[in-house]
Amino acid sequence: MISMYREDLKGLNRCPHCGIANPQMISVWSQIFEDHRISGNMYHRNWATFQCTSCKNLVLCESDLKRSNTTSRDLENGASIKVVSIFPDTQRIIDNLPDSAEKFLKQALDSMHAPDGAVMLCASAIDSMLKEKGYKDGNLYSRINEAAENNLITQDMKEWADAVRLEANNTRHADEERPHMTQEDAKQVFTFANALGTFLYELPAKIEKGKAAAEENKSATE
Ligand SMILES: [Zn+2]
Repeated sequence: MISMYREDLKGLNRCPHCGIANPQMISVWSQIFEDHRISGNMYHRNWATFQCTSCKNLVLCESDLKRSNTTSRDLENGASIKVVSIFPDTQRIIDNLPDSAEKFLKQALDSMHAPDGAVMLCASAIDSMLKEKGYKDGNLYSRINEAAENNLITQDMKEWADAVRLEANNTRHADEERPHMTQEDAKQVFTFANALGTFLYELPAKIEKGKAAAEENKSATE
């Protein structure tokens, strides 16, 4: 459980920005909106930002004072309060991925602080998803092109793949001038790899499950 205190945030496994484990998150700002009436409903929320001492980036947290039975005075006195939402959310690995792709993506998440390695791991995850779908020849970009031509992925996804840096030693001019990846590059490639996994594995599995549930419901009412 992620909890906010007056001075810091506790229980966050990893910083969503730099990926460091058990980050120290220090309070920068907080604002309590207690007894506000919004559209006829009473609003008891606490919003706060915390800064990672490792990368200096911020997260924004929201807590529900009423649900956790806490008042602004309790917070002042050092009580903790459960966080109900956090932005940006800690990155999650999607469901239904093939084993090898899942392993590569988990390792990528664990190494976001070392972006060259994280990008290579994400590229390996993308590679193993495409290979599992039968795309084994050529390099990563040519296999992505082939997958788009065969409508395994959409044209938009192919364009997205072209826009992110999947390889440091690509022949593209910009990559020759920037031999190393940044954390932003790693985040973008991770997001792309996760989206590709959603499209190829998670979404089809959800559709199958939804269809089966609808069929069951239909036969039960017939
Ligand atoms: Zn950080």
